[in-house]
Amino acid sequence: MAVITRAALLKGPYDIDLIEKKLVCGDDEVIVKNHLMGICGSDKLFYRGKLPPKTAEFRHPPKFPFPLGHESGGTVVEVGLKVSEYQVGDKVIAFGWNNNYADYFLSKTWQLQPVPKGLEMDLACLGEPISCAMYSGLNSQVQLGDTVVIMGGGFAGQIIAQCSKAKGAHKVIVVDTLEGKLKIAKKLGTDITINITKEDPVAIVKELTGGIGADVVVEAAGSADSFNAASEMIRHNGKFVFYSWVTEPITLNISRWHDDGLQFINTCLVHHTWQERFVWTPETLRPVITGQVDIKSLVTNEFKLEQIKEAFELADNDDTAIKITLRP
Ligand SMILES: [Zn+2]
Repeated sequence: MAVITRAALLKGPYDIDLIEKKLVCGDDEVIVKNHLMGICGSDKLFYRGKLPPKTAEFRHPPKFPFPLGHESGGTVVEVGLKVSEYQVGDKVIAFGWNNNYADYFLSKTWQLQPVPKGLEMDLACLGEPISCAMYSGLNSQVQLGDTVVIMGGGFAGQIIAQCSKAKGAHKVIVVDTLEGKLKIAKKLGTDITINITKEDPVAIVKELTGGIGADVVVEAAGSADSFNAASEMIRHNGKFVFYSWVTEPITLNISRWHDDGLQFINTCLVHHTWQERFVWTPETLRPVITGQVDIKSLVTNEFKLEQIKEAFELADNDDTAIKITLRP
């Protein structure tokens, strides 16, 4: 049986529209009816015409016209002949680039994750970005008493900041360029916020730590300035935690990486293996279900799927819109 759906097509930079598309379920695939979709920072890069290299999660090669969308979730409405892991009616979280800005999407079973018990669907549909950020927060090796700096107060940075505080960091510092994001960070428990356009984060972190530097710095902004500031503010033998995806070459001063014996931790959940992601995802969502991490304050704007143009215009122009969602 085939399903007809509206689906987003990014024809070129700043040119997104909905088209009609027919989905035919392959033997090893399922069709999912979406409940909610999210706009990711990487979708924004696509929209602005900055296409990343192809990775394993992409169904389509990253070139225009590109069928956009990866953050969503919903209910399985059709399963292929060889599928044994899912049944019609199961609630699932999407973990793949399958043109998810749509009423329905087609997915391989390994690109899905069952919705854990107790997690409401509005949050489950943001399960991919939440899990990615929580995985970083859980694996950052933050210890009781640490001074932790999060570079970038976007959706991920805000979650990692909350995790760091809950794990017993003494001081959590969020650095961003936008007051709106820094205000939200404060509201959610961050001790100190630094606006990098007005203040020097390296000098402030040094001052706060008696000249020593931060124990852990999580890079969740993805710019050369952010990487370079992070490299300067980590203490001797401190931890550099990678989160963001930098898709273009940048110039870095990495002398201290050697001289000061910095440690590096790659905390990108979906770039290990899907098996590891499958095991980790329920763990990453547990503190969300128990309410130890506030996600709802980060969902700042909601649109209907047919308003996808407006949603992307807002994403492009208003950087204080932390997580924009679309409803079919
Ligand atoms: Zn994403």
